[in-house]
Amino acid sequence: MSFAPPRPDASLPPLVVNLFSDTQTLPSRAMKEAMMSAALGDEQMGDDPTIWALCDRVAALLGKEAAVFLPSGTMCNQAALATHCRPGDEVLAHRTAHILSSEASGGAAIAGVQITGLPGERGQFDAEAVRAALRSHDRHAPPQTLLEVEQTANAGGGTVWPVEKLAAVAEVAHTAGLATHMDGARLLNAAVAAGAAPADMAAGFDSVWIDFSKGLGTPVGAVLAGSSAFIDRAWQWKQRLGGALRQGGIVAAACLYALDHNIDRLAEDHANAKALASGLAQIPGITVETPETNLVFFNTRGTGLAAVELAKRVRRQGVAFSVNSAWRGRACTHLGVDRAGIEQAVAVIRAAVAAA
Ligand SMILES: *Cc1c(COP(=O)(O)O)cnc(C)c1O
Repeated sequence: MSFAPPRPDASLPPLVVNLFSDTQTLPSRAMKEAMMSAALGDEQMGDDPTIWALCDRVAALLGKEAAVFLPSGTMCNQAALATHCRPGDEVLAHRTAHILSSEASGGAAIAGVQITGLPGERGQFDAEAVRAALRSHDRHAPPQTLLEVEQTANAGGGTVWPVEKLAAVAEVAHTAGLATHMDGARLLNAAVAAGAAPADMAAGFDSVWIDFSKGLGTPVGAVLAGSSAFIDRAWQWKQRLGGALRQGGIVAAACLYALDHNIDRLAEDHANAKALASGLAQIPGITVETPETNLVFFNTRGTGLAAVELAKRVRRQGVAFSVNSAWRGRACTHLGVDRAGIEQAVAVIRAAVAAA
């Protein structure tokens, strides 16, 4: 087994419709031009004006006092876990959470925390599930210090936590003395889909971050926000993890561009996801989980083709989607795919299923 990702398979045709992930969005020419004219300085010394401007904008957008720029969403989660918790602490999160499944057990390796997965439909738990997971305070029990939610719930189907449900779980956590953290990798998708303010969704959370390298279309970057005291301590982890940058304003400029140009258009991705879902639902043997944002999960069992097998076959026709489990595929809409691409992808998947 290898831990490094494979290099691209040169025998495959170029991608025509890439629904693999919104992480595969490419910076536009206008975004690159914004990067070229960015004012730069040494971020570690507090001298990069573009990063300061970005952090101020994101803190205001999320309703928090302060923010810190980090290279990735994973580093935001890891810095937040380490800032909120001490080794041996327990973190509550949904059992499908990214921090549990997809960060190479960084919570255990870096912060030294134990993450307990909560049950609940479509990536979400309710206040009752949080209450049921609370432990008594005695020397046998793991000290519980943090509740984490994911907005949107990625593996849950890109579902949107309603503002009231977020407030309810945060309230239970705070009452029990736990801090709260929101993995907002796709918080802006959620806000656009629900017509809610990102700050209202994040209101009950002591820390929250957004990713820029997904639907917002930048090559790298994420911003973690919270109280001034929290961000001050998170800076130590940024430094420790190697996330303190030098002339990082060159990428922060792309993020500022994305805030100005790429938020409202997420609604197009959501409309394309709906179109994709209804196209896929008409293919015999495929069942689709109703999308709420830009992620479309579907089950291939009725076609007799495992998701990975179907993915391989359509990839040879220039169409990509990702595989979540044996029979579950995930297709993700983003600024690199338009309605014609959606129709083409549906046609290619339909033909692959028919030929099976
Ligand atoms: C992508 C993602 C992350 C990690 O973000 P990176 O920028 O890829 O490190 C964390 N949480 C969720 C829910 C994600 O979808």
